[in-house]
Amino acid sequence: MRVLIGGGSGFVGRELTRLLRDKGHEVTVISRQPGPGRITWGELESRGLPPCDGAVNLAGENVLNPLRWWNESYKKDLFSSRIDTTKTLSQAIAASSSPPRSWVLVSGVACYKPSLTAEYTEDSNWTPFDLLSQLCKEWEAAAFLPESAAKTTKQVVIRAGAVLGQDGGAMKQMLLPFWLGLGGTLGSGRQPFPWIHVSDLAGIIARSLEPPVLSEATPPTPQVYNGVAPTITTNYEFTKELGRILRRPTIFPVPKFIMSVLLGSERAVILTQGQKVIPMKTLESGYQFKYPDLTSALKQIVGS
Ligand code: NDP
Repeated sequence: MRVLIGGGSGFVGRELTRLLRDKGHEVTVISRQPGPGRITWGELESRGLPPCDGAVNLAGENVLNPLRWWNESYKKDLFSSRIDTTKTLSQAIAASSSPPRSWVLVSGVACYKPSLTAEYTEDSNWTPFDLLSQLCKEWEAAAFLPESAAKTTKQVVIRAGAVLGQDGGAMKQMLLPFWLGLGGTLGSGRQPFPWIHVSDLAGIIARSLEPPVLSEATPPTPQVYNGVAPTITTNYEFTKELGRILRRPTIFPVPKFIMSVLLGSERAVILTQGQKVIPMKTLESGYQFKYPDLTSALKQIVGS
């Protein structure tokens, strides 16, 4: 299978590329930078979709980029880096004379309203309630194929929680303070912390790329999968387990207002609030998680 991965140079994309190449598939990355095994977004726009059996979009400016202050220009980049790239790919797929069989977008669980009690499956209804949920709505809408293209290309949206792995994402920023014994709960610590090991997210994407069985009865809407581990975890449980595995104290809670000052209140909600997300359809699809619980995931990431 030939797979085209927008943003494939990033944290999730590198893991997905490794997995697909190990299975004998060919990967081409779409990037802002030209290079071997890559095409640029400009080339995609001007030349159209190269021959491929599956396409994925993982491009997006990092929401927790510690080097960027929360301001209008950053918010604009968060939106355009996701929506414009997704639109470019979906339009190229729709215009292609030999479209891929599968088209996968990874979006986020920020579409679901944070709550200490509500539980969300892929079937839960939601409407935008803040900036990040509005971003999810526009991002997923940008992936939507017209009905004619949806007859030949399976559409999948995977809503990922915080992706944990050795090589990037949230762990990269968290490990140093935890190693130094400065780790602690964020805000009240009672907020759910939906997470997934990067290897499982890559596994769910790879599975979604597998040839679809499309029929006349297949609705022209995307199949949605929650990309989160099946174990519901709070920020307190995550903090204590990481501290236990690292054998470091976790006695310095970070108050919510400090997070809001450091990150901006609209962005701090990612860490100080959370959602209980259930991967109901993901489990029903038969996907077997390699790291279904936090202990096995963290041990793989930081060593036992
Ligand atoms: P990365 O932060 O590693 O970024 C992925 C790629 O996006 C980069 O390698 C880069 O590719 C491209 N990119 C970055 N900034 C821009 C920009 N301003 N304009 C266009 N392209 C840009 O992402 P992850 O691999 O961690 O995540 C993959 C996707 O999953 C993202 O869309 C992310 O929002 C989503 N997601 C991630 C979560 C996580 O915890 N990591 C949680 C939930 C969702 P290049 O430089 O080659 O152009």
